[in-house]
Amino acid sequence: MNKSPFDLKYQNKNIEAKIIASLERIAQAFRVLLWNESKEFSLTPIQIQVLIFLLHHSDQKRKVSYLAEEFNMTKATISETIKTLEQKKLIKKEYEQHDTRSYIIHLTSKGKEIADKTSLFAEEILTPVEKLLPSEKENLLLSLLNIIHHLNQSGIITIQRMCFTCSYYQSQNNGQEHFCSLVNQKLADTELRIDCPEHKPTSIE
Ligand code: SF4
Repeated sequence: MNKSPFDLKYQNKNIEAKIIASLERIAQAFRVLLWNESKEFSLTPIQIQVLIFLLHHSDQKRKVSYLAEEFNMTKATISETIKTLEQKKLIKKEYEQHDTRSYIIHLTSKGKEIADKTSLFAEEILTPVEKLLPSEKENLLLSLLNIIHHLNQSGIITIQRMCFTCSYYQSQNNGQEHFCSLVNQKLADTELRIDCPEHKPTSIE
């Protein structure tokens, strides 16, 4: 039988289990920090996450179907979230001329103000990351990208806009070297992206 990383007898003798338990604690910190913002602005965590996403992504991605995939939710749930944000006057809809059932979601000035403030919710997690040595940051980034890539390929998390799932990405030397054919240049490990505006999905995604 597989051992649980949360079984303390197993965890305390196993580095992989300690890493999983640590990631779970960090996920908990994200939840706590988001809840703190929720209370301050009388919004739910998903409403805040949607506002932050709208603040930083292009028109094509600011649609119900894209948001549903991004947040691994049904279209009905995201539509409800958008309806509430509209009632609170934090977003407005721009209906598309070719299909009046489809619309682009824009932040209102009040919505932008709240998104700007709440998008800093992870600052307390940024503090210890900033204190790492450059080589530690590079190793951590690569490790996290590999974990996220695996989760994406396993179908656990859907949309990814990272280099590893981009059709412009090429790797050489057993994955040690990275190349972006869009800009036609090598990418250092630290230049690998987790959310690239130019990302073009591969057929695998
Ligand atoms: S287009 Fe963006 S995501 Fe794709 S390989 Fe280049 S930098 Fe990476």
